Amino acid sequence: MVGGNEVINVARRLGIRERLAPYPSLALGSFEINLLDLTAAYAAIANRGYLAEPYFISRVVNPEGQVLLENRPRVQQAVREDVAYMMTSVLEGAIKRGTGIQAARLPGRVAGKTGTTNQFTDAWFIGFTPRITVGVWVGRDLKQSIGRGMTGAEAALPTWIAFMERYLEDQSETVQHEEFPVPGGITFVTVDQRSGLRAGPQCGGTVILEAFPSGREPQDCSAHHHVLLSLPWQQQLAHYEWRPGEPPTTPESVAAAAGRGWEGELPDNFELQLPGENVLGAAEAVPPGAAFGQDASVPAGRPAPPGTARVP
Ligand SMILES: [Zn+2]
Repeated sequence: MVGGNEVINVARRLGIRERLAPYPSLALGSFEINLLDLTAAYAAIANRGYLAEPYFISRVVNPEGQVLLENRPRVQQAVREDVAYMMTSVLEGAIKRGTGIQAARLPGRVAGKTGTTNQFTDAWFIGFTPRITVGVWVGRDLKQSIGRGMTGAEAALPTWIAFMERYLEDQSETVQHEEFPVPGGITFVTVDQRSGLRAGPQCGGTVILEAFPSGREPQDCSAHHHVLLSLPWQQQLAHYEWRPGEPPTTPESVAAAAGRGWEGELPDNFELQLPGENVLGAAEAVPPGAAFGQDASVPAGRPAPPGTARVP
């Protein structure tokens, strides 16, 4: 967790000029951004972190052949190369096993993301290959629904694929199968996609290859983590290991979030870990036998580990 302000800083560096506020819903896409800015930001990720300011007119020449106006790319580094590559790798995942999966039939490397707004008022798909970034928006002039079920994958992605098919047809084999260049400082690790941790034999068939900054690879996944993942999220929260520099989350704010849109009471044994406390004690309270048993829930009434707050 990095906090909303950090997210906004990166968005600004990537050329997003729209008003943004550090609300938690920022992560869900609660602020609207225009197609041009967002496509330019994706192009910066595709372009190894270098943002090129978009322009529409390359040159204006008068009848005498005199150049009246000429625009050339203005390029600046927005994010580090390794960061841009990790973003690319994540967005490749959205095509391989996410909402953009229809695009997996295109030849070569493709990365991208769908977008869907509340009440289906807008459908988005922005995607790129190592050569080209294309953004598609489907919507009305007024903020009205374009139809039930009209998600980014349903309404925008088919247009994106149709365009890309025609574009790729005209390219050479070499361009069609170009790879995203992998910069230095990246290590590939097979991870359990459920936990995001380094996969072992116990992780079964849920293993994927992910890019990490070298030296900051994830810890090993274990049967213990599988047990934690089987718990309701409120209980998982108590086992979250807070890292220095992460934004503080108060018990009140988390309880408020859990209370909103959530029917019923929080369970009696719900415990919330306060930031900065060691939670390993709490994690170890899961009996080892539970890791392999059918019933993987944390037993009610277990002693509260030090530094936990009970939510009323
Ligand atoms: Zn695992």
